[in-house]
Parts: sequence; C-alpha cells; structure tokens
Amino acid sequence: MLIAIIALVVVAAILVAIYGYVQYVRPSGRWARFAELRADPEVFARYALLPGQRCGEAPFAFPTRGVILGLWDQAYRFGHHHAGIDIFSGTEPGVTPVYAAYPGYLSRLPDWIATVIIRIPSDPLNPGRQIWTYYTHLANQDGESFISEEFPQGTSEKFVEAGTFLGYMGDFSGDPGNPTGLHLHFSVVKNEGGDFLNELDIRNTYDPSPYFNLALNHRKNPDEIPLCAGEFTMDPWDLTDGQ
Ligand SMILES: [Zn+2]
Repeated sequence: MLIAIIALVVVAAILVAIYGYVQYVRPSGRWARFAELRADPEVFARYALLPGQRCGEAPFAFPTRGVILGLWDQAYRFGHHHAGIDIFSGTEPGVTPVYAAYPGYLSRLPDWIATVIIRIPSDPLNPGRQIWTYYTHLANQDGESFISEEFPQGTSEKFVEAGTFLGYMGDFSGDPGNPTGLHLHFSVVKNEGGDFLNELDIRNTYDPSPYFNLALNHRKNPDEIPLCAGEFTMDPWDLTDGQ
C-alpha cells in the first residue's frame, strides 16, 4: 500500500514537472523561427500580417505590418503571463507605422513616452461593456517618442477612427539604454469604474483572439505563428502615416 502511494506521488510529481516545462520553460516554436524570419524576407512576408488586414468578420483590423511571435498568456520567463501580443516588424525603430485597430477615444498620460490607450465605450463582442486597447514601445531605446504629433503627452479622450496613424514601432523598454527587441505590444484591457486596469497583470486583460479572429492564446496555440485561418479583407486605410 505504501509503495502504491509513493508511486502515485512520484507519477503526479512527474506530470506536474512536464506540465510546468511545457507551459513555462520550453521555448515556443515561434521563437525558433525568429532567426529564419530575420534572414529571409520571403519567409517574413509569408508570415507578416498587414495594416488594415481583417481576418473574416473580426472586429479589429491588424494595426501594423509584422509577424506575431509573442502571444497572450505566453510565459517569457518562469511564472510570467504575457498580457498582450508582440508583433515584430523586422525593420528598424521609427520606421514601421502603427495604426488604430478599432475606433475609440485616445488618451496618453502626461508621463507616457511610448504608449497610447484607446477607450472603446462598447465592446464589439460584448455590447455595452467598455474596454481599452493599449499600444506600447512607440519610442526608441533612449525614450525619444515615435508617437504622432497629433497625440502629445497629456492627450485626453481624442476620438480616432480605425486606421488612424498612432506612431512608429520602437524598442523602448521603459528603461533608457536597455532596449527591448523592436516590436509593438498590443493588449485589450479591462475596465473598472470607468478607468483602465493595469495591463501588466494578465487578469486585467482579455484574450485578444476573438477580436482579431486569430489564434492569439498561447495555451491553445503554443507554437504556430498566427495567420488568418480563412478569408481576409483589407480595410481601405490611408497608409501614408499622416505626415
Ligand atoms: Zn509584449
């Protein structure tokens, strides 16, 4: 009997270890493609989504040109839960334009160097519920902002249509001189009492998958680079970056 219990405990421990490895330690198959994507523009183009691209009936259109390598609820280190998606352009900081994925009211807090947030009064997937869309890393590694002049620090509740130029993709981490890899971080943030919650905590965000009609949940899609599963359309956005 004791041996049976010990065996059961050992098996349970092994299963927990395997689960922990798969969920939190094993690198995603997407990361393994990073060097290949960088080296071969044709491979990159095959996986890159385009600004204004809308998968099927998705309410959100894609906000930039790039490959999605970081998904929602992906662990970048043990115990970490990524609260948004990371889109890599493979260009240089300050080059790739970023646009609003959905209309709403844009704010930029007085101390926000690289971030804008857009309030959506009525969630297209859950009408009547207010949500927020968050765009960040829109500055260079030293904190020189790439956000459009239309949205200076302190901007509050300025209405923007889908496809409005917001700024350029950058690599500012929040810590000058310590850049993150060049990418756009985008998340769908929960509302509480009329305000947005802290999007660093995944519990304060929504799975963005149904908003884009893409497989953006890492637990459901641990390895594949998300692409439109079926038909897609292109919104007729003005891609001249507003300059
Ligand atoms: Zn991110």
